[in-house]
Amino acid sequence: MRPPSVDRLARSLAHTGLPHPLLVDVARAAIADGEHEQAETRARAVAASLLQPVINATGTMLHTNLGRAPWSHTAEASFSNLEFDLSTGQRGSRQRHVGRLFAQLCDAEAAIIVNNCAAAVTLAMAGLAVGREVAVSRGELVEIGGGFRVPDVIEQSGAALHAVGTTNRTRASDFANAAESGADIAVNLMVHQSNYKIVGFTEAPTVTQLAELDTPLVCDIGSGLLDAACPWLASGPPPWLEDEPAAKQTLAAGADLVCFSGDKLLGGPQAGIIAGRADLVAKCAAHPLARAFRPGGLVLSSLQELAMAYLRRDGDAIPFWRMAARTPTELRERATALGIGQVVDLMSVPGGGTLPTVEVPSVGVMLTGDHTQALRVHQPPIIARVQDQKTLIDLRTVEPGHDSHIAAALRALNT
Ligand SMILES: *Cc1c(COP(=O)(O)O)cnc(C)c1O
Repeated sequence: MRPPSVDRLARSLAHTGLPHPLLVDVARAAIADGEHEQAETRARAVAASLLQPVINATGTMLHTNLGRAPWSHTAEASFSNLEFDLSTGQRGSRQRHVGRLFAQLCDAEAAIIVNNCAAAVTLAMAGLAVGREVAVSRGELVEIGGGFRVPDVIEQSGAALHAVGTTNRTRASDFANAAESGADIAVNLMVHQSNYKIVGFTEAPTVTQLAELDTPLVCDIGSGLLDAACPWLASGPPPWLEDEPAAKQTLAAGADLVCFSGDKLLGGPQAGIIAGRADLVAKCAAHPLARAFRPGGLVLSSLQELAMAYLRRDGDAIPFWRMAARTPTELRERATALGIGQVVDLMSVPGGGTLPTVEVPSVGVMLTGDHTQALRVHQPPIIARVQDQKTLIDLRTVEPGHDSHIAAALRALNT
């Protein structure tokens, strides 16, 4: 039998919802490979490769592969006062609106927003230390995943690294000695050990100790916990957050600047925030890299919504904090209500390169066998995990409104 024409085959795939030019590519490749019967499967694979919402049933609250923090944002097509001052009618700065809100949230004099925390640290080093040296503890010359390596970031910013102390033990006096040695140190940088721990014979200076030195102190706290007291949670801070540095407390302890991510414990869109002393924030904002790292209006208005939720102390409006605050009791009720699979106690993890040793008690359901592939092709796709040939669905990371999707997908499995 002769293969169908490319055009006819492409038209027969219209029900997949893909635009015609993509279907033509699929049809042409399938015919060329002598697999025109596979064209529909191929079209579905192309559809699956497009960006789309998925249900995270892994129990990893900030799943890097699944976009870290879930955050919804809606905006109608519209102009905005992104760089326009409505009170004066003059040109304004895109950094003013949201920067001011984050400054208030961390009790800082000023704040600016960039594309991610890697950009925030790079800009802070470029703005404060270009052509000079940055002192960092050897215990914090780390890689935080995705190629963020502290020595490289410092070098790329145009500053030079001045390593102090040792891998396991560094003291404030190591930083003081570096400054007195004649080195031209512009900044002392502390980098939070977000995704690893050094245990045993260890020592590290506190923020308060380094703040007593004359050199400006920049703290990359990474995860973006705003306030250790979590005033946006009625139940107060969860116990597993205990050792996590928070922006407000780090600044209160004397840091001159903090840098953090928008999409880790902050629970918002991908962004980076630099907050602290107004003169230092202004130096960062004035550096040419600030233009390259600036966020778009979509991200800024989305971050503004998030900042407003924090200012209202409304943790319920922030999906990450909703999932963090779920109790095993309510999760067990939901797991039981699914009516399929065995209800089991599980351990969720914060994820996203934060809190590497923390586990959070959770509840979900378990099915015998590995069903992850079938769950991935469900609409919407459900991402589960497998352990010892058992499929685990952790409900902490699933919005309750999505339980019906989970139940339908589990019922459709051949178990
Ligand atoms: C995650 C992290 C970063 C990188 O943040 P991005 O927003 O992903 O660029 C930098 N520093 C620390 C300490 C981190 O934890």
